[in-house]
Amino acid sequence: MSSLELPPGDRASRAFPLLCVPVARPTADGLFAQSAALLPEFPFQELRLDALPDPASALEALRLHVAAHPSGTFLATCRRVASGGQFSGDPEAELAILMFAAEAGCALVDLALESAEALGVEALRSSRFSKAMLVLSWHDFQGAGDLEEVLRRMRPFAPDVVKLVPTAHRLTENLPLLRLTGQSFEPPFRAVGIAMGEAGVVSRILGPRFGAAFTFAPPTLAEATAPGQIPASVLRDLYRVTELTRATAVYGVAGSPVRSSLSPLMLNTAFRETGTDAVYLPLLTNDPADVTQFARELPLAGFSVTMPLKTAVLSLLDTVEPLAERIGAVNTVRREGDGTLTGFNTDAAGISGPLLSRLALRGARVLVLGAGGAARAAVFACVQEGAEVSIVNRTHASAVTLAEEAGARALQATELDAQTEFDVLIQATPTGMRHNASALPLPEGVLPAALIFELVYNPMETPFLQAARRAGRDVIPGVEMFIHQGARQFELWTRKPAPVQPMREAVLEALRRG
Ligand code: NAP
Repeated sequence: MSSLELPPGDRASRAFPLLCVPVARPTADGLFAQSAALLPEFPFQELRLDALPDPASALEALRLHVAAHPSGTFLATCRRVASGGQFSGDPEAELAILMFAAEAGCALVDLALESAEALGVEALRSSRFSKAMLVLSWHDFQGAGDLEEVLRRMRPFAPDVVKLVPTAHRLTENLPLLRLTGQSFEPPFRAVGIAMGEAGVVSRILGPRFGAAFTFAPPTLAEATAPGQIPASVLRDLYRVTELTRATAVYGVAGSPVRSSLSPLMLNTAFRETGTDAVYLPLLTNDPADVTQFARELPLAGFSVTMPLKTAVLSLLDTVEPLAERIGAVNTVRREGDGTLTGFNTDAAGISGPLLSRLALRGARVLVLGAGGAARAAVFACVQEGAEVSIVNRTHASAVTLAEEAGARALQATELDAQTEFDVLIQATPTGMRHNASALPLPEGVLPAALIFELVYNPMETPFLQAARRAGRDVIPGVEMFIHQGARQFELWTRKPAPVQPMREAVLEALRRG
């Protein structure tokens, strides 16, 4: 399978800032006031003239605005309804508005391919865009489209920039787009490629790395108009989109959902803190083959695996380390020097790490509540460290099966009473999570261990953790597991020590913000 080839030649000299922020308001005053307010932070803006009820009446104000802000780089767009915008005029009216915007000093104007085709090559050639560059844009709000065919249609219009915006339903649908944005075109023009949809986040972040002229991002989350849009400040500060180069290693977290995952925050913080030239993306997919194909072809330097892929991904990897094989789940994949993919399970280290810093596990009596993915990691990690592990699960048969596999024993919940005492209790069921925040995993007052490790970390303080604190038990909050498993991932990928403290601070701050 071939990797995505980066284009030859030096693309470092860029005509524009890499981050373009669309500004849309229903009134001219609102549009230009918002544009002025954003300029100090975002000097490259797309002015969405089509969001105005009568764009033609705002053109004089546009001229004054552009003249008053020479530090700004403006892209004028007046997209018609037929092309997915809000302008109700015909292609001639769209063209006339863009020509005025160009005369007014906008550095670029965006014309939809459909309008260009309606106007014809000759009409467009004889149009005056002053010194403005022509961005020819194409959107597919449903699917991936035939990008080569779109380019073939665009070529006769000799645009300066082509903007290709398909919709991605799979990670692999980003690959042709990134491949195209990285090419040099005849006649010389550059491309911007962005896939709509949450699976298309990849193209929004990586486009410039692959040679795109620039990328788009809304100024705030509140102004995002479609799934997958990431606020400009997040794109700049967390994903460092303006600093990515073709040498930047790409990582990510694959699963569904991943939008609210704290892993991008934690791992990008780690890369930044250690000066590692790497970026970590959310990779939305529920198909294991989608992520492994994407990983091999992009290529990814490694990726985290989360629900629902931790087990399903196993058979698609070239090698799986023995502990992950025994657990039957992979949460970390690393691309080796020869291009093969190796699976690891750092959830186990996420459990044994915090425990071993508090007690010796050899001979320790450990009770695990649950028999799902997290419980499996806990059971195998503790058995590997020489602990005597007992398992209690809502469905007892699953506890029995897991106990047989791991060399542990299964108990009924009713066997836990005031007389039963363990050194450690690991709470590995979802009880206490936000949607289930009032629930306890055991009857009230039953806390049969000196040390309670609560794996749920959102909220940070579950009712069970609070009850354990009140009863004077030592506690380990679930966020410790999350940070440890992430730190181990960082170490597997970079072979450097993880900056655990900044990772912890970033995650705790995000959890406190809620
Ligand atoms: P899972 O595979 O779906 O397993 C859930 C387990 O909990 C099953 O054994 C299930 O029992 C049991 N369970 C579900 N609802 C229950 C209830 N209301 N009362 C009692 N038992 C219940 O989930 P998982 O991946 O193991 O994750 C479990 C929890 O661990 C997650 O909710 C997450 O908060 C936490 N976790 C934390 C980290 C971390 O880094 N801190 C990492 C992974 C997971 P049945 O067999 O009867 O269905």
